[in-house]
Amino acid sequence: MKYILLFSLLFISAFTPSLVCAHSLLPAPQRVVWKKGVFSPKNGYQITYDSQETRTNVDRAQFPLEQDNKAVDSAPGRVCFFVLPANYCSEAYNLRITPDSLIVSANSFIGFLHAKSTLEQLEDKDGCYPCCVIEDEPAYGWRGTMLDVSRHFFPISFLKKQIDVMSSYKMNRLHLHLTDAAGWRMEIKRYPRLTNFAAWRTDSLWKTWWNDGKRHYAQEGTPGAYGGYYTQDELRGLVRYAQERGITIIPEIEMPAHSEEVLTAYPELSCTHVPYKQADFCPGSVATYDFLENVLMEVMDVFPSQYIHVGGDEAGKASWGDCPLCKQKMKEEGIADVYGLQAHLIRHFGQFLKKHNRTLIGWDEIIDSTLEESSAVMVWRNVEAANEAIQLGHDVVLSPGAFCYLDGYQDSPDSQPEAYGGYRSLEMVYDFVPDKGITPSNRKHILGIQGNLWTEYVPTASHAEYMLYPRLLAIAEIGWSGTAEKDFPEFRQRVLAQTIRLHKWGVNAFDLRKEIGNRPEVTHPIRHKAIGAKVTYHRKFNEKYCGTKETTLTDGLYGGWNYGDGRWQGFIGWNYLDVTLDLGKVMRVKEISTDFLQCSGPEIYFPAEYKISVSTDGETFAELKNTDHPVSKLPLNKIEQWGWKGRTTARYIKVEARSSAQHGGWIFADEIIVN
Ligand SMILES: [Zn+2]
Repeated sequence: MKYILLFSLLFISAFTPSLVCAHSLLPAPQRVVWKKGVFSPKNGYQITYDSQETRTNVDRAQFPLEQDNKAVDSAPGRVCFFVLPANYCSEAYNLRITPDSLIVSANSFIGFLHAKSTLEQLEDKDGCYPCCVIEDEPAYGWRGTMLDVSRHFFPISFLKKQIDVMSSYKMNRLHLHLTDAAGWRMEIKRYPRLTNFAAWRTDSLWKTWWNDGKRHYAQEGTPGAYGGYYTQDELRGLVRYAQERGITIIPEIEMPAHSEEVLTAYPELSCTHVPYKQADFCPGSVATYDFLENVLMEVMDVFPSQYIHVGGDEAGKASWGDCPLCKQKMKEEGIADVYGLQAHLIRHFGQFLKKHNRTLIGWDEIIDSTLEESSAVMVWRNVEAANEAIQLGHDVVLSPGAFCYLDGYQDSPDSQPEAYGGYRSLEMVYDFVPDKGITPSNRKHILGIQGNLWTEYVPTASHAEYMLYPRLLAIAEIGWSGTAEKDFPEFRQRVLAQTIRLHKWGVNAFDLRKEIGNRPEVTHPIRHKAIGAKVTYHRKFNEKYCGTKETTLTDGLYGGWNYGDGRWQGFIGWNYLDVTLDLGKVMRVKEISTDFLQCSGPEIYFPAEYKISVSTDGETFAELKNTDHPVSKLPLNKIEQWGWKGRTTARYIKVEARSSAQHGGWIFADEIIVN
């Protein structure tokens, strides 16, 4: 008996890694033990259900094994569907596969659906299933994807395809960003101008439309007008389609900001009543509340989801301080400032949705001590915002931009189509640990996680898939499997296998096999004469982007493609780059250069002015270089080395770099190189 036990332990430890690798289950199950042999449906099998309820759930999940003509009463093999006890969560499932039987247990349609997804991944090329025991359940209840269908419009067929993919990786929330300046996307019967005008614009590409400054809308049917919207019938169909695949659709209607399209179609809802002028609703006007309530009534009628997203982010509030109605509202309600006005509006809609048995969720700018207590917060900034929301008693969905925004470059920017928001590789997404920085007692407030695809620079459906996959698989993995056992090389192997599967389905996933990766200089320090030189800052670097503080610019380490990687040092406004290096003694110098980053999404630009001067005594400086440079928002992401070459002697080297008055923004440098 001892020998048998020893043998089985050895067997498990020797085979588990290779089999997990071979099957590439993604997301990884919570517990899996591989056994010898396979179950082959080809030999025929009987199907049994332990109850009619189980049968109903299994039928709804549409197991291929049920429809297989090998399912015959007299066959030797057995396929059994059993109910899991009620103390298991509704998404849990168990699989027990032996050469003679395949047993699936769950207590809901969703549980059987997840089991089916796992079986689809387990099935080998001969249609057999490897013997194993799997006990599985999700780490987080909310495993979401946000698609921005405003900046560019994608058809229902595209959304259905993404639902299929999400479902097969056990994701369960599709958040649709339905409204924004770039176009309104949902039919609202009471307000037809939202779809016959505000859903259409004069340029198909967001970047040219946005950057031309006019940002005009167009009447539906105008030649050349770009846009579109989903009818309520189409959306109801989509909701049903998603429900059958275990996915809840969360609609987002932006308020009070990101609403240029509404306020041009219905200018009376803005403070000035002037079209093309405001991004923010007038929170002092009764008309605003009436309009948004009417819209939300139709939204709730189409979308049965518990959570309704109201945006709430990035309100400029520019017109509120001077608006008579806003001032009147502040007086009546005892509101101190325009921030209080935003909080008032969000609280109003939190109460309104609660009255209709729904729950408000919004981006983390909605955090306020007056936020309606049942409201939830979708965190896009950082863990501090998450903690603030939780301290106030709110649940959170975590989608911090640094990990979960899928609009950044997934590989070396030179090799990729232009993208927003910097470098974000698969590994950077996978590095996300949702509960990091959140105390254990507060973790119950984490509803889950979400990957967000903003589409400013994503004009087509196939491009959207390219940005989503495979990085969305990292979100699926973290959301389902949790982060207790992170192993990126192992995960990457599974993703490589899954990418082949995605390509077979016709999903335009980025080919991870061709990944170039981060800037090579990040891991290999360079040598030059100023390594370790003392740097005197005449103006202060920014504390948030401080690099390694005073040693950053002379440590021999370049920054990578990601501006937030801790290697770059940021300077902004009056605190431009202005430093003096002390080489310790007078040296011969042939080259002085500075490594700069441009990343337009977060407004990091190459400098408008760049100066180098040198001195032997630290008092009298000779200017070696003084150039003006026209700042442009393009390229979106690039690193350049600027400098001087010649012959001189110096001990002190002064480098200055300033932003342009026109564009403002940041200057990011990682190293001053002296040779
Ligand atoms: Zn107003």
